[in-house]
Amino acid sequence: MALRPEHSSDLLIDGKLVPGSGGTFDVVNPATEEVIGQAADATSADLDAAIGAARRAFDTTDWARDHAFRAKCLRQLRDALLAHADEFKELTTAEVGAPAFLTGGPHFAGPAEDLGWFADLAESFEWTRDLGKAKPMGIPNQRELRYEAVGVVGAITPWNFPHQINFAKIGPALAAGCTVVLKPAPDTPWAAALVGKVIAEETDFPPGVVNVITSSDHAIGAQLSADPRVDIISFTGSTVTGKKVMEASVDSLKKVFLELGGKSAFIVLDDADLGGACSMAGFAVATHAGQGCAITTRLLVPREKLDEAIKATADTMKGLAADDPSKPGTICGPLISAKQRERVEGYIKLAVEEGGTIECGGGRPAGKDKGFFVEPTLISGLDNSSRVAQEEIFGPVLVIIPHDGDDDAIRIANDSPYGLSGMVYGTDEDRINHVVNSVRTGTMGVNGGIWYAADVPFGGFKQSGIGREMGVAGFEEYLESKAVAKPA
Ligand code: NAD
Repeated sequence: MALRPEHSSDLLIDGKLVPGSGGTFDVVNPATEEVIGQAADATSADLDAAIGAARRAFDTTDWARDHAFRAKCLRQLRDALLAHADEFKELTTAEVGAPAFLTGGPHFAGPAEDLGWFADLAESFEWTRDLGKAKPMGIPNQRELRYEAVGVVGAITPWNFPHQINFAKIGPALAAGCTVVLKPAPDTPWAAALVGKVIAEETDFPPGVVNVITSSDHAIGAQLSADPRVDIISFTGSTVTGKKVMEASVDSLKKVFLELGGKSAFIVLDDADLGGACSMAGFAVATHAGQGCAITTRLLVPREKLDEAIKATADTMKGLAADDPSKPGTICGPLISAKQRERVEGYIKLAVEEGGTIECGGGRPAGKDKGFFVEPTLISGLDNSSRVAQEEIFGPVLVIIPHDGDDDAIRIANDSPYGLSGMVYGTDEDRINHVVNSVRTGTMGVNGGIWYAADVPFGGFKQSGIGREMGVAGFEEYLESKAVAKPA
């Protein structure tokens, strides 16, 4: 089966691949600005049908209770996706602008492989736990705790790492016994639609268990958030949209699980290898043009080493020119759209207006008149109260800020509405641990450590979100517990 649609990709509703009632919308390659195809444009009625199908599959089949069957379907999906790996990787670079080197890892192959981890968990999870005997009100009782799926999941995802985020939602949700309506971002419909095609044509998932609704209209996400037949919204996207999702969910009082924005700090202590640390910070922010929520975008360096740090960081970033993502050596590809490029360029302009200095980059790469590229950009001369240090830019833009020691670095790192991730470089274990324990974020790397894996919960403190994705904690987001007691 060839994945690339000849005409338009389809919706997946109740086990059937169907066109969108709203016609189609364009899929654009962000590196060339060319229209590479079409995706089905769902209407409100299509979403209504998908939610109805997911509700029926949850309420009237044995899906939620047949752990072994769910594990089998998830393994089938993993294997089918990996059998199409070459096509998926190529399309991910074309649709998302993802650098080719990342499609063998976090942009496709890694997260597809992780579906197997959730399949294993469906089988190994302790679904019933003996709580032993107790005498509430003096009466002996035998108690146990049972775990059950929450129900219908509305999964709303962004465009930046579409496969990783789609799989990080459908993997644990399906393993837990939920049914799903997946609504991807309008910028990257194929990443979800083609997974829908694989599910429909190459796996035994029963009709209605997974539904995929692509749409050019953000209002479809709002409708999904508000629908009372949906039991939980699992949302990844910006903090602004996350708040709207929460508001829309209020009337039906559904569970809301939010993975939102970040403005994470990369802290360099005065006993660190400054050159190595700065080089890593420059590399991180250039990767996939900085379009990662957990990417460290504030670099905090010892004040007395500021000049040296600027030079080391800028030298690295100058060597990572924004380029065609399909070239094997490209680290920094394009931004996803003209709108995102405008937003990033707006922040660079703002930095200059606020009195900042552009140490490298600052604009579009020379000689590239097509593609939404912005050069990796380093900004100095601003403190942490500046807007470019406080607000999420979501581009290859790093702000370098001096600190006056470990506690000052911690203070600056925590002076943010966000709390998603972070990095610390240093030598002394006690000092490193003090930083790790004091920075209020959901993940922390030490000296380049990579925490990302299927078994590691990921998520944010403060306005970076509510709940955890991945790991056992991420799986448990899709479960309810039920306490059962009988006289003993
Ligand atoms: P976005 O918030 O604009 O859109 C995300 C999704 O929400 C899309 O599918 C969109 O169609 C939908 N949507 C838009 N309006 C909606 C509404 N009113 N109700 C319901 N759904 C609605 O985000 P984006 O621009 O696609 O992605 C970038 C953002 O995602 C960044 O802020 C980034 O930090 C964040 N992000 C967070 C994580 C994380 O795990 N914390 C991971 C990746 C990206």
